Amino acid sequence: MLILSSPSGAGKTTIARKLLESHHNLQMSVSATTRPIRPGEINGRDYHFVDRPTFDTMVHDNAFLEYAEVFGNCYGTPRAHIMEGLDAGCDYLFDIDWQGAQQLYQRAGADVVRVFLLPPGIDVLENRLRSRGTDSEEIISGRMDRARAEISHWDGYDYVVINDDIERCFEKVRTILDAERMRRSRQTGLVDFVRGLTAPDAV
Ligand code: 5GP
Repeated sequence: MLILSSPSGAGKTTIARKLLESHHNLQMSVSATTRPIRPGEINGRDYHFVDRPTFDTMVHDNAFLEYAEVFGNCYGTPRAHIMEGLDAGCDYLFDIDWQGAQQLYQRAGADVVRVFLLPPGIDVLENRLRSRGTDSEEIISGRMDRARAEISHWDGYDYVVINDDIERCFEKVRTILDAERMRRSRQTGLVDFVRGLTAPDAV
């Protein structure tokens, strides 16, 4: 389970897309949320958009691996689909906030890798948020407050990568994923492989 967190505007969506394109055995975890759907988003691809009673029922039924309220809306990682995929040997990428990262780590520590992306400067982040379009000063200032709040949790992560260049940042996150996959404990077929290499009568 690879968790990618960052303040909005730090390039997380692009990095996630590039990782998914380059690692066929990596799937995106699709969260459920009570937040309204945005233009361009597709239900079931970007999120499972649900109403609050449905979300509360899922919480009650223990259907989430983790869930949290993030800036006034509820978000949660549906459990069943992820567990099936993990059992089948698939890795998952999670775009979740620091609260979700903390909960997943508490539940499945050894199986979780937490990566936090930082912008190269707060002014860069603000410019990126401004260049997104026609948001009012009030909305931009609210987003900056949220970004600072998210950044303050950077120390709850295993890796911190500064996104000063999207290609370089992607290469660094890809390196983390590739190295973590090579950890002895994660290579399930290794015991038999090494036994074959070390057996005295092996040709
Ligand atoms: P947005 O509404 O902009 O898509 O996402 C807002 C924040 O919610 C982002 O920081 C994102 O990482 C976080 N988020 C999205 N899905 C989940 C989830 O399932 N669990 C948690 N804890 N956070 C989530």
